Amino acid sequence: LNHQLTQLPTTIFTVMSALASEHGAINLGQGFPDTEGPAHLTEVAAQALQDGRNQYAPLTGLPELREAVARSNARFYGLQIDPAREVIVTSGATEGLASSLAALLNPGDEVVVIEPAYDTYLPMIRLLGAVPKLVRLTPPEWSLPRDELAAAFGPKTKAIILNSPMNPVGKVFSEDELQFIAGLVAQHDAYALCDEVYEHLTFGARHVPLMTLPGMRERCVRIGSAGKSFSMTGWKVGYITAPAALAAVIAKAHQNLAFSTAPNLQRAVAVGLDQDTAYFETLASDMQLRRDILASGLREMGFSVLPCDGTYFLTANIRGVGELMTGAETDLEWSRRMTVEAGVTVIPVSAFYDGALPGAPSHLVRFAFCKKPIILEQALTRLRDRI
Ligand code: PMP
Ligand code: GLN
Repeated sequence: LNHQLTQLPTTIFTVMSALASEHGAINLGQGFPDTEGPAHLTEVAAQALQDGRNQYAPLTGLPELREAVARSNARFYGLQIDPAREVIVTSGATEGLASSLAALLNPGDEVVVIEPAYDTYLPMIRLLGAVPKLVRLTPPEWSLPRDELAAAFGPKTKAIILNSPMNPVGKVFSEDELQFIAGLVAQHDAYALCDEVYEHLTFGARHVPLMTLPGMRERCVRIGSAGKSFSMTGWKVGYITAPAALAAVIAKAHQNLAFSTAPNLQRAVAVGLDQDTAYFETLASDMQLRRDILASGLREMGFSVLPCDGTYFLTANIRGVGELMTGAETDLEWSRRMTVEAGVTVIPVSAFYDGALPGAPSHLVRFAFCKKPIILEQALTRLRDRI
């Protein structure tokens, strides 16, 4: 059996969701909305099944979806994308990431990864025999240590993974930071794998794809997810935008990992991407409202809440809140205990760090706020009653 996979723990999202349901806890752990996405999209998907869209879709995706992805790139970012050669539909952003990494990496290549990192990056890089070079953001501002980032690049660097807006910390990288990263990518003749699944979930801050910066068009792979943009996380439809030469290789990986993605869902996602801009603005403003409810409730209880400009998530410091939260308890212990004792589930931020290395923060937890306001209020009441 594969040594890396036998050693790999089950993902924290599955572990904490199971614990939440075992204890009847409100699940602010795994990031999925408790409100369905637009009903007209589920109708399109259901109708497509009735219409007989039940056989294999084309390898790189339905033309109508690839065209919608290209239009969306033009509308939001001014990117001119060839839908026939520069877009690939994948089975979720997760498969898009795996296919892109497989296309980019040879054994021994190095990949710069910014921690805290979404939990599939490191195992996928290592499965491919490549080597992650880790750079940690500095809490509480989640600032980017530029010297350390520059030092992580070297002659073996093949790529950087850039997740902006960033899970779990809600950071939206500034244009200045993006320019710095673009400079390093160009200087080292590398690529950037841009995980932009939360592209439409920003709260005031502007999301700028690295791909739009000078010199970056040919070096970036941009990944989006219908799960996040249409609040249908179970659909697992992702879309990649990449320069044609690179997309051709990513398609080779995709043909072996998934080959294609459910055609009825692709049709619905195409309709979703073409919705008017007001849809995307409301998606973000609704989510911002939820962030504000959660953040102010947590602050009133004494948590210090770290800045959050996007995503479904915010992070908070558990130290010094309530008498029971002593300095000794780790974020994982606290998250488990709150599930059992308060009936509220969160995710320990240490799960987003390489477990083998010392020094990861153990005083921060991630709350998902993609839930109905009433549920967030209930979770706050439960926490308040416990602490
Ligand atoms: N990247 C990030 C940063 C995520 O938070 C997620 C989780 N939704 C994914 C990728 C995976 O997206 P999908 O569900 O489309 O595979
Ligand atoms: N992206 C989701 C999160 O960060 C989880 C996705 C999953 O469970 N695989 O909560």
